[in-house]
Amino acid sequence: MTWLVIDGYEDEPAAFGVPPYIGFHVRYICGLLHSRKMEYEYITIDQWRLGNRPDCVKNGTIQGIALIAGAVVPGKYLRGTPISLKETDSLIRSFPRGTPIIAGGWAIRGWRQQGWKPLRKGLFLAVQDTDATLNHFLDTGEWTHKRRTDKQWITWAQAGAASFAVTQHPDLGTEEKPGPLTYEVEVYQGCVRFKRGCRFCIEPKKGVPLWRTPEDVIEEIRIAADNGVTHVRLGGMTDVYTYMAEGVVELEYPIPNPEPIAKLLHGIREDERINTLHVDNGNPSIIAENLEPSEEITRTLVDTLSDGAVLSFGLESADPQVHVENWLNCDSKQLHTAIELINKYGKERGERGLPKLLPGLNFIAGLRGETDDSYKYNQNLLESLKRSGLWIRRINIRQVEGEGFQEVNEKPFKKFKEWVREEIDTPLLQEMFPIGHRMNEIYWEAHDGRTRLPRHIQNKLHQDPSIYGKPGLTMGRQIGAYPILMGINYHIPLETSSDVIVTGHGSRSLTGVEIGLDPNSMTERQFRSIPGIGDKAAWKIVSTRANRLARNPEIQAFENISDVFDATDLQMPEFASLVMEVKN
Ligand code: SF4
Repeated sequence: MTWLVIDGYEDEPAAFGVPPYIGFHVRYICGLLHSRKMEYEYITIDQWRLGNRPDCVKNGTIQGIALIAGAVVPGKYLRGTPISLKETDSLIRSFPRGTPIIAGGWAIRGWRQQGWKPLRKGLFLAVQDTDATLNHFLDTGEWTHKRRTDKQWITWAQAGAASFAVTQHPDLGTEEKPGPLTYEVEVYQGCVRFKRGCRFCIEPKKGVPLWRTPEDVIEEIRIAADNGVTHVRLGGMTDVYTYMAEGVVELEYPIPNPEPIAKLLHGIREDERINTLHVDNGNPSIIAENLEPSEEITRTLVDTLSDGAVLSFGLESADPQVHVENWLNCDSKQLHTAIELINKYGKERGERGLPKLLPGLNFIAGLRGETDDSYKYNQNLLESLKRSGLWIRRINIRQVEGEGFQEVNEKPFKKFKEWVREEIDTPLLQEMFPIGHRMNEIYWEAHDGRTRLPRHIQNKLHQDPSIYGKPGLTMGRQIGAYPILMGINYHIPLETSSDVIVTGHGSRSLTGVEIGLDPNSMTERQFRSIPGIGDKAAWKIVSTRANRLARNPEIQAFENISDVFDATDLQMPEFASLVMEVKN
């Protein structure tokens, strides 16, 4: 008999789990079953949607089911979509009555709060640790909410790194064709503001933060790497800077401790199999109030992380009244200081053409005390950051509703959002990724739209080399946290990667063209995707090539790039020499 683990994906700021990420909570469940040497199978909700059924379902040998559901209202995703409430209901109903089912994750708690009460024998909705609750059930046959102990945390985290959640994850790929799987790690739990934290946040309820040691985390990542993992994000950190900080219990602003985080990051980097390494959130007030140790930590981050790293800063609102009423964490002055520090070291570009480390900024609408004027405060702050030449990689504006929040006045909120996109996001994007800028290792994930569709996986043509250069759109992004979306105006086989030159800007995405295109094999569509080569010119190049080949099929039609334009009597555009290359 077999337990079935269904990964409905978690999606929280400190717990990424939507592909290409593999979340830690689902791994802990698999790790628990793995360490108990029990039979189990792992499947993602996207595999289930495609009609895949594990053996235990096909053979009727299910012993029980564990489901993780992580997004109360799934948003828009490129590569995978978390399970919805409707899907969860129908999934639960589809299993034989009486089969033990445990469902956990943030969405389960959220749906329960909204009044969801599915009635079914053997179904248990976990509100504490799903893994520890399941472990108790396996020991006693009884469902009781449980929390994992420190020892269980280490055991299940390390066993989870070698579990089917990793080895059978569809995004792991193979040695010859590695996938984009990114391993999300839980470094600690809780927030240093546990005594009186931001009013809307659940982290303070977890009490004094619980740290995992650098040795424990490094060992988990080593095991994951033994099982094929190469990309890692250190999540579960409400603030990278207060990992194992001093004075967490006594001080309002604990003092960052540069040593443990350096030990952790350098320790991970010692393993050469690890490619992408990114982190989680930063707390701007801690940084601003402790500049010296924060500067040391920032330097360590820049030295060890992959480029494109983002430290999300939760300002939430720049309105001082909202700040007071919601016990918010940082004010505009502290934020400015923290952003300045990160920019000082992080603006420099890394190997993939991205700034090494930049801050992200989160705003929330719907907080107590908010008025229409609150958006003006936010606007003034963003304008002052822009005037200072400071870079922010991403601005997230979230609307919250429900108990403890107030209604959002839609008109000024929408206006603020539009203003940010037009006046801040777009110019920043143009400055950070100017036309002609090179970006390396873009991983291609979808054709003809911004979402990977079932046909992209089921119809193998989408991954076949024969599709290369055909008309259509290809979307992709670099591996890591908060990557920028890149569009190419022709088809590239999916699940491959290439280097590109930026040719244009959308409001939140870029367009580009690949580097190393050979004019002797380029399609008409590929010629047209180079700025400066229009429809007529592309046609002229392709027909000149065909004529030359018809006369002499033994030769290469074009000897070099100049030959392409001399032979066709066309002006060579600037981009041609950047992206075209005659290969022998
Ligand atoms: S600082 Fe961040 S994690 Fe801590 S209470 Fe505020 S929002 Fe929550």
